[in-house]
Amino acid sequence: MTDEATTDEKPTTTPQTDDGVGERDAPDKSPRQANQDDGEVTRPAELSNLEIVHHYFDRAADRLELADDIRAVMLSAYREVQVQVPVKLADGRIHVYSGYRVQHNGARGPYKGGIRFHPDVDLDEVRALAALMTWKTAIVNVPFGGAKGGINCPADKLERDELQKITRSFMSKIDKVLGPTRDIPAPDVGTNAQVMAWMMDEYGKTHGHTPACVTGKPIALEGSYGRESATGRGLVYMFREAAPQLGLKAEDTRVVIQGFGNVGAWAARLLRQLGCRIVGISDATGSLASEAGIDVDALHEHLRAGGRSTDFEGEGIEPISARELMELECEVFIPAALGGMIHADNADLLKCKLVIEGANSPTTPNADEILNDKGIFVIPDVMANAGGVVVSYFEWVQNLQHFRWDEREVNDKLGGIMRRAYRQVKERCSDDVPPRVAAYEVGIERVVEAAQTRGYI
Ligand code: NAD
Repeated sequence: MTDEATTDEKPTTTPQTDDGVGERDAPDKSPRQANQDDGEVTRPAELSNLEIVHHYFDRAADRLELADDIRAVMLSAYREVQVQVPVKLADGRIHVYSGYRVQHNGARGPYKGGIRFHPDVDLDEVRALAALMTWKTAIVNVPFGGAKGGINCPADKLERDELQKITRSFMSKIDKVLGPTRDIPAPDVGTNAQVMAWMMDEYGKTHGHTPACVTGKPIALEGSYGRESATGRGLVYMFREAAPQLGLKAEDTRVVIQGFGNVGAWAARLLRQLGCRIVGISDATGSLASEAGIDVDALHEHLRAGGRSTDFEGEGIEPISARELMELECEVFIPAALGGMIHADNADLLKCKLVIEGANSPTTPNADEILNDKGIFVIPDVMANAGGVVVSYFEWVQNLQHFRWDEREVNDKLGGIMRRAYRQVKERCSDDVPPRVAAYEVGIERVVEAAQTRGYI
């Protein structure tokens, strides 16, 4: 892979403020809320995120003939913490938010997973995302368990100092269950490197300076080079692995990207460097198509300068609807926006050969079957979007050693891990076993083995 896109800036639709916190357009990642604005194509998904994750777990567990008692341990979380986060906002009133940290399974190492700030955060959503992290860390074989956290606050509507108060209040209440050898949060939707810096600082007040207590930190505070681009870059490594098998050559490959945020924009820019043509993109404000290919670097600059994607101009670019985006002729479709956006009523629209899941739980089980029947090869979220947690692992390792790797080393090591995961999962695939089932099988087996070997079960 070429490594030209080496800066750690965030290619996002979100305009950044000087302080780096950024105003947020708060994309809604809850499957039931997914893409609710335009008719049947974009109606809410038929299942919640938790139902989707449980469905895929059960399918793999059935094939593994996992005993009911072990299944019960693997399905439920080890620890669930819910705290009250009261904060006086600029309106002079005290607002009470709920904060969550769910530690799903720690058999393979310290818990690891992001912190989401979004009004839709609730215990079930956090449970689902925590379980996904357990399988994801096991599939890419980094020594972590799975966790997730969040606060049901509207991050996009809060001032910087309000966000800081909420973050510090939350950290001071959950720090007892966190730490570099216990549980290491990272950014997720509605949080970023600045929020991680506040979390680290708050943790340090009682535990001393401990950079390894969170990952996704700013470079100035022992963050890792390559973390920002890691998830998008991981998707590109997946493309490179799958392409020969599907007879795809980068220069003949047309790509459509749904969601041009951190993950989608990095994937788009890196795939363009490889020679692919990005013929469609979308974000929360609309969708664009160009048969000639969209200059996604220029689009990224346009968005960073505060423009909207719908104002972007270029050769052959035309605005299209969310439905038309899904109908575009292409070889690769990358969902990188919301959960549940490919569902029973729109999966049939896709015309690609390959789906690489950048978002978490973008495909409902019904949609997954439709894609399978259409012969579309799906690289599942639990493997495809693991690049972020892999480089979080590298950040943690660097922090524990107080040592820093350069970006090329990070990217090369990421490539090694993503390739290995792809090949190990592919070895288990057959006509009856698609990559999603194979990936869950690999993950579940590793977690069960660790839990049994250490005597937890
Ligand atoms: P982000 O907020 O940077 O980007 C999300 C993008 O989706 C934005 O461009 C937004 O405008 C767009 N969007 C929102 N609603 C949309 C809609 N209805 N149609 C089309 N686009 C829409 O978030 P991100 O960090 O890029 O995360 C994207 C997805 O990837 C999420 O599901 C997240 O959980 C998952 N993920 C992210 C990482 C990571 O490292 N950032 C890692 C693993 C998984």
